[in-house]
Amino acid sequence: MEANQPHVLIVDDIDINREMLERILIRQKCKVSHAVDGIQALEILKTVTPDLILLDISMPRMSGYEVCEYVKADPQTEHIPVVFISAMGELEDKVRGFEVGGVDYITKPFKVEEVSARVNSQLTVARQRQKILELSEAQAHIIQTVSHDLKNPLQIIIGYASMLLEPNPPIDLVQDIAQQILNGANKMDQLVRQLLDLRQIESGSPLNIQPVSLAKVLVAIVMEYELPSQQKNLTLMLDFPSKDPLMIEADPLRIEQVFANLVSNAIKYTPEGGKVVIRVPVADEEAVTVEIEDNGLGIPEDALPKLFQRFFRVDTIPHRQAASGTGLGLAIVHGIVESHHGTIFVESEMNKGSIFAVKLPRTQ
Ligand code: ADP
Repeated sequence: MEANQPHVLIVDDIDINREMLERILIRQKCKVSHAVDGIQALEILKTVTPDLILLDISMPRMSGYEVCEYVKADPQTEHIPVVFISAMGELEDKVRGFEVGGVDYITKPFKVEEVSARVNSQLTVARQRQKILELSEAQAHIIQTVSHDLKNPLQIIIGYASMLLEPNPPIDLVQDIAQQILNGANKMDQLVRQLLDLRQIESGSPLNIQPVSLAKVLVAIVMEYELPSQQKNLTLMLDFPSKDPLMIEADPLRIEQVFANLVSNAIKYTPEGGKVVIRVPVADEEAVTVEIEDNGLGIPEDALPKLFQRFFRVDTIPHRQAASGTGLGLAIVHGIVESHHGTIFVESEMNKGSIFAVKLPRTQ
């Protein structure tokens, strides 16, 4: 069975009808389940959620209308589209079918083209509906997370600014208070900037692609992060054995952003005295890989699949103490690498360290 194969439940008491519909649906690459009456259909729906139900109207024990009413009354199944199978194509049948929540009907005797067209159109609507649902859930999640992440620094700013407005502000603490306000404002600024950046990358805004020397980019990164590493007593090394500058087709600002982000993370999540190495193993003709290796906190195995999701942060005490980030950096990195037709992998072991490997196509 294919992963995204649509699943259709056929409910009809007549064997030959079920068999004919099944044959048509299998040709449409659908997965099919059967029920011989309404009672069996409702039983199946307790454990299975098909993408579509084809429901005969006149069946013994329970009519198709009644089955549909049950389906639409249950929050677990109400979203499943129901297409009625109507024997004589009577107008009354069709109207009643729509009244109880059906979305379409097919008439007997079946015409292959008609069944295929109506099933396909309902499956497309169902897929689009699911997509809209997922998008709206993702949007709600973003709004909730962003409001939460903005609220903390905002409360700090409000609290400290109020202290300054008191009748006798503590003069000796003014510097400290101003610093706290600035820290809070910087945090909000970073979150808003990263969100806008991610939006730009994900919306596929055009890249300024040109031949870029990887050697130059990495040397610039090392120079930029030399001071922050020294301040944390870390060793930062560039291991670039090739004399070839290794040209890639890239947007220079975006590709710098990738390595800056990865090196900055390696520094943030590596305790004092540790080591961060930017390594470029011998490249092949097609692609070049850059590894950013640290011997820091590492990442728990169960966190690895979620690492590139927006807002994801590893929730251990050492990680939280090491840095207060937004959880957007790696989502941005992932987006940029993908837009350059590259890939990114991570290997990590708790308390041993991590290796982030970025593979990019070379200029041909
Ligand atoms: P943040 O702004 O929180 O650093 P990122 O998206 O850059 O956001 O990273 C997501 C999370 O992944 C971080 O919060 C951190 O917990 C973890 N992480 C990233 N890089 C490393 C690393 N080199 N070592 C350990 N943990 C890391």
